[in-house]
Amino acid sequence: MTVAEQSFSGLLAEYEPVIGLEVHAQLLTRTKLFCSCPNRFGDPPNTNVCPVCLGLPGALPVLSREAVSLAMRAALATHCTVQEESIWARKNYFYPDLPKGYQISQYEKPLALEGWVEIPGEGGGTRRVRLQRIHMEEDAGKLLHEGFPWSAEKSGVDFNRGGVPLIEMVTHPDLRGPEDAFEYLSALKAILLYIEASDCNMEEGSLRCDANVSVRRRGAEAYGTRTEIKNLNSFRHVARALEHEIARQVAVIESGGEVVQETRLWNADRGETASMRSKEEAHDYRYFPEPDLPPLRVTAEWTEEVQHSLPELPPERRRRFTEEHGLPDYDAGVLTQSRAVADYFESVARETGDAKAASNWVMNDVLRKLKEDDADIAECRVTPESLGRLVKLIEGGTISGKIAKDVFEKMWTSGEGPQAIVEREGLVQLSDEDALQATVAEVLEASPDQVAAYRGGKKAAIGWFVGQVMKKTGGKANPRVVNTLLKKALDS
Ligand code: ADP
Ligand code: MG
Ligand code: ZN
Repeated sequence: MTVAEQSFSGLLAEYEPVIGLEVHAQLLTRTKLFCSCPNRFGDPPNTNVCPVCLGLPGALPVLSREAVSLAMRAALATHCTVQEESIWARKNYFYPDLPKGYQISQYEKPLALEGWVEIPGEGGGTRRVRLQRIHMEEDAGKLLHEGFPWSAEKSGVDFNRGGVPLIEMVTHPDLRGPEDAFEYLSALKAILLYIEASDCNMEEGSLRCDANVSVRRRGAEAYGTRTEIKNLNSFRHVARALEHEIARQVAVIESGGEVVQETRLWNADRGETASMRSKEEAHDYRYFPEPDLPPLRVTAEWTEEVQHSLPELPPERRRRFTEEHGLPDYDAGVLTQSRAVADYFESVARETGDAKAASNWVMNDVLRKLKEDDADIAECRVTPESLGRLVKLIEGGTISGKIAKDVFEKMWTSGEGPQAIVEREGLVQLSDEDALQATVAEVLEASPDQVAAYRGGKKAAIGWFVGQVMKKTGGKANPRVVNTLLKKALDS
């Protein structure tokens, strides 16, 4: 524990943090929210634009049904109630990335209300973080400050992102620490990925998070004054920024001061938050109903249709993995973080009939290699079928567990099946007692001292003998058979 961590947990003995998160997620639609421009990241600046998303006079918005469906998926997957009628609103402000001078959003009547996301709770249970609302809105463009010939003198603006559909998901102030915030974001991201509503890529900005935080004395009922932290571009930054901000607020209160309600910016390099502006109020934005769009009406049939199209979601899948496959909750949690990984695991488990072995291989080997290669499971050259066959080769006694690790490495690079590698390289496990007997005898003959020690009572030395035999056979000997032969020879 570092000094900083120690003092942080010290603060928590007296003060309780209260946190609410606002998460913006870009929706994976083909087009933008109100025009037919492609919704695509990474294209050359200002190539995916049209009169509507550039805010040219006379251009009118037309709502994308696909975007509404994806937002409804997110709402239903987080147990929110989709409203039969929601209203588009203009949020007015000036910024160079907002050519219309207003953002089309939802304000008084958002798309969906009151849901929850499950996070791990105490003692292996779960806890609900309640959502207040989910509303839809359009994204703004993006200012560019570097990477073009005149960037030393001027900034540029790229409107490709302008008009891209977003959902904003707002929690109740239910989170009680940086850890909770991290768990909530992980759970929410897993859900959005499962339902293919967003790719949740924080580096590319398709998932963004603002954190509201206050502290109160333990036992107090009233919430303290909150600050809102912006510029959080990874889950780890969210946790670090919260930790810093909680400590700062406690220090302010302890020194007799008062926390000021304001917006603060996280500076990752300095590891601290700094005041950015006093908190804006809703009336500053002059919200009013969008005159160019009718109210959004969602029929019961539409909601039902979307509900039925949802896949099994991470919490349910996690429970099923523990109940149906008998996995420890930890394994089930890791394996269900991504739908593709969960599918992969289930294929391996089906192939082998041994869920725990499948889980071990996927968690310890597949996920480790993917991390090393910074790759996605979709790019994995080892198919679940061939990993399943590898596990069966071990369980059938054809190869040892140790050799299997080498075979796996080779499968990883070449994409070959395990059988081909084992046959070509002569890796079949030696289980034949007569063949191994000779090696056992050789080892014993070459090590009279160890033999004497063993016979003198140092029984633990058996492991050393097994190791010697394994070495001589290039790891191919069946350790169980070797053990039996050694015991027979040494104890006689
Ligand atoms: P605004 O519209 O000004 O951002 P909201 O009332 O919509 O304010 O709240 C935004 C977020 O702040 C929500 O996630 C909410 O849970 C959280 N929040 C509200 N009050 C507090 C508080 N005292 N401490 C921490 N978070 C809070
Ligand atoms: Mg806000
Ligand atoms: Zn457009």
